[in-house]
Amino acid sequence: MTTVTPMTTAALSPSSRQLMTELQSLGLRLVDPNAGAASRRGGAGPSDHKAVTIDGHTIMVPVHTSSAWASPFVAEAPGADGSSALKRGAIPIARIEFPKQPRFYALQTLDGVPYSHIATLHGADVLATTVLQTCIRYESRRKACKFCAIGQSLAAGRTIAHKTPQQLAEVARMAVLLDGVKHMVMTTGTPPGSDRGAAVLADSAFAIKAAVDLPLQGQCEPPDDDRWFERMHAAGIDTLGMHLEVVNPGLRERIMPGKAAVPVARYLAAFEAAVQVFGRGQVSTYLLAGLGDTREEILAMCERLVALGVYPFVVPFVPIAGTPLEDHPAPDALWMKSVLEPLGAMVAMAGLRSADIKAGCGKCGACSSLSQYERQDES
Ligand code: SF4
Repeated sequence: MTTVTPMTTAALSPSSRQLMTELQSLGLRLVDPNAGAASRRGGAGPSDHKAVTIDGHTIMVPVHTSSAWASPFVAEAPGADGSSALKRGAIPIARIEFPKQPRFYALQTLDGVPYSHIATLHGADVLATTVLQTCIRYESRRKACKFCAIGQSLAAGRTIAHKTPQQLAEVARMAVLLDGVKHMVMTTGTPPGSDRGAAVLADSAFAIKAAVDLPLQGQCEPPDDDRWFERMHAAGIDTLGMHLEVVNPGLRERIMPGKAAVPVARYLAAFEAAVQVFGRGQVSTYLLAGLGDTREEILAMCERLVALGVYPFVVPFVPIAGTPLEDHPAPDALWMKSVLEPLGAMVAMAGLRSADIKAGCGKCGACSSLSQYERQDES
C-alpha cells in the first residue's frame, strides 16, 4: 500500500506514478463529496476535478465527469487524521489526502465580492484566476472551443466577469499571508482587440507585484505584436503560457473553430519571440491529449517546442459536463503513459524540467503526471 508522506519534491515510485496517470484518466468516486477543498466545476481550462495528494504530490483528479462515475477508484470518507483510503474496487491500495479549504475563501472585498469568486486555490499552493471570464471565441457555439466551460461558472454565479487589478492584488496578498500560496496563474478569455488579453494581464500583474512578491504566470493567445512580450515581462509576469491545445490542423478546425484562426505557425513564431524575453523553459503550452491527435503527432510537436525552449505541458483531456465534448472519452491510462514516458525523458534531456519553471501550470504540474516522468532516473 502506498503511504502518505509530507509534501516533498522527491521522485515517486513507478507504482505511484502509474497510479497518478490512471487516476487522471479514469477519475475517482468520492464517498464524501465534501472532503477537502471544494472541487472545481466549469471555468477555463481543465475542470470538474478535485485536488488529491498522493505520496506528498498533489494532482487534479476528475470527479464530476461521466467517466469518473464509472471509475474503479473510490475514496472513502476521510478519517480523524484527515487521510482517506483509496480503493480499486473493494481493495485498499493507498492512503490519500485532500488539500484543505484555504482560509482566504472566508474573506470578501469591501464591495462584497467573495475572494473565491476572484481567485481559487489550484493544486496545493497555486492561486489561479481567469481575469476576463468572457471570450470572443465563446460568444457563439459555432466558434467556441468544444472542450471549454469558461461561461459556466459565470452563469452559475461562482465568479465575476472581470477581476480588477486591485481585486486581484488584494486576494493575492491575502492568499500568500493566510495560505502560503507559492505562485499564481492568470489566464483570460480572449477579448476583442489585437493584444488578445496581453494588456489586461500586464495591468493585473503590475498591481499584484506592487502588493506582494509572488511569481506570476500569464496565459493568453499569441498577441498580434510581439512587443507585448516585453510589456508583460516588464509588468511583472515571470512566465508565459500560450496554449496550442490541439496539434493536427484539421482537428484544430473541428475542436476549436474560432481559436484555430490563429495558425500553428503563428504560435511557433510567437514562442520563439517569447523565449527571447522570458527565457528557455519559462514559456509553455498546454496540449490536450486524447482529443484525436496521435501519439506521434503530439511527440513530434513536442520535439519542435522543446527545440525552441518551450515546455510542452501535455495534459489528459477531461470531458467537462455541459460542454459539447462531455461524452468524449478521457484518454486511456496506458496510452497516456506511452506519451508521457518519452516526453519526460525528452524535456529532462533538454534541461526544461517542471521544477525549474518559476510559476504556472508547468510548475504546478497537478493536471498531468508529466513532471513525475521527468524523474525516472531518480526513482
Ligand atoms: S496545472 Fe494549471 S490548471 Fe492545473 S491545477 Fe495547476 S495551475 Fe491549475
